[in-house]
Amino acid sequence: MTKITNHLPTKELQALDAAHHMHPFTEDAALAKKGARIITRGKGVWLTDSEGQQIIDGMAGLWCVNIGYGRKDLAEVAAQQMEELCYYNTFFQTSHVPAIALAAKIAELAPGDLNHVFYAGSGSEANDTNIRLVRRYWDVKGKPEKTVIISRKNAYHGSTMGGGSLGGMTGIWAQGGLPIPDIVHIDQPYWWGEGGDMDEDDFGLARARELEKKIEEIGPDRVAAFIGEPIQGAGGVIVPPATYWPEIQRICDKYGILLIADEVITGFGRTGNWFGSQTFGIKPHIMTIAKGLSSGYAPIGGSIICDEVYETIATSGDDFNHGYTYSGHPVASAVALKNLEIMQDEKIVEHVRDVAHPYLMERWQKLADHPLVGEAKLVGLMGSIALTPDKAARARFASDAGTVGYRCRERCFANNLIMRHVGDRMIIAPSLTITPAEIDVLVDRATTSLDECYAGLK
Ligand code: PLP
Repeated sequence: MTKITNHLPTKELQALDAAHHMHPFTEDAALAKKGARIITRGKGVWLTDSEGQQIIDGMAGLWCVNIGYGRKDLAEVAAQQMEELCYYNTFFQTSHVPAIALAAKIAELAPGDLNHVFYAGSGSEANDTNIRLVRRYWDVKGKPEKTVIISRKNAYHGSTMGGGSLGGMTGIWAQGGLPIPDIVHIDQPYWWGEGGDMDEDDFGLARARELEKKIEEIGPDRVAAFIGEPIQGAGGVIVPPATYWPEIQRICDKYGILLIADEVITGFGRTGNWFGSQTFGIKPHIMTIAKGLSSGYAPIGGSIICDEVYETIATSGDDFNHGYTYSGHPVASAVALKNLEIMQDEKIVEHVRDVAHPYLMERWQKLADHPLVGEAKLVGLMGSIALTPDKAARARFASDAGTVGYRCRERCFANNLIMRHVGDRMIIAPSLTITPAEIDVLVDRATTSLDECYAGLK
């Protein structure tokens, strides 16, 4: 068999891809007809494809390559760790330096008393861990009936049975019998799409108070936790009204239920602070982390756990019967630690604030003047625009919801810009190292793509 390398012609790579590789979240037969775009290299915010095209990656891969592609220092750390200790587990009373050092660094960066890390291989796995953690916590506390976790419709918390159940995406639930029992969903704080005639702040309060109603309906003695992304990412970069999180916090405090902030996207600088919880004033008991933890250079995720939850479980007198072969994988941990050190040394969180406000903010908000764009939202380096046939009415396209977004995404792709669409919302989350000049390229290409998409609608 021919060795499969970057040197094979694109068509051959596409045929092999179609023959043997089943893609996530993809209708494979449709992709096979079209052929996947084959990405061969990355440097900074730029990707190269097998045809030699230079693409600006407005999504940092899947919101994860926070420090940008192609860092040699991370590759060197990985190689060194592979030679020194490629693998060892942390199950049976052993530990190793990379897992210890990374946990200590995460505890240093995380706010409040979030001092303990349970490792997973991904965000989905970490959220599965969270289900186990909160139920175990209440069980040890002598309240085993507190098992219900409340989440939001259109949330994304991963695609395992647990993560997909915590998430509120009906497309995921429709395949495989999700959600699993005792996970319930309230409405999302999506003012532009669902706020009707309400003032944005009132709407934020109303949506947060659905949590209180739900707790009362289920019974406070049954509710274990509430989980939410500070900003819904995969749901369309939905920035909640300013009133939303303070009210959610008040309700969680009032009923003494655990608050889980899913920081898989918003963690590690994305919103202009180390964590989105800091941007929104949330005080979670548990945070879910992944993606930016290693800038996507190695698969790693985890749960950061506050002192009280940790101590309750740790002193229960029994094992916590949960773990993954790759929990705290030495190579992934060493890479993640180096990534966080680079972020600190190169002041990348400060850079996010510098380029996002006012530079990107001004350019991004101008997109709202485009005839196809309703609202333009941005927090740090996480932004979205809503495509609409009627701005004043905040209307949606009547039929084929998502089709215009898809077409716009296709125009972006053709113009060598990666932007994602969620229905008729277009979103960006570039690497946090993006420069003002690269922001210009990104926004210029987005504008051209919007123009082309708009012209195609007439
Ligand atoms: N939680 C959030 C908020 C996410 O955005 C994602 C992935 O996009 C996940 C969890 C799942 O993470 P993973 O894909 O690493 O399993």
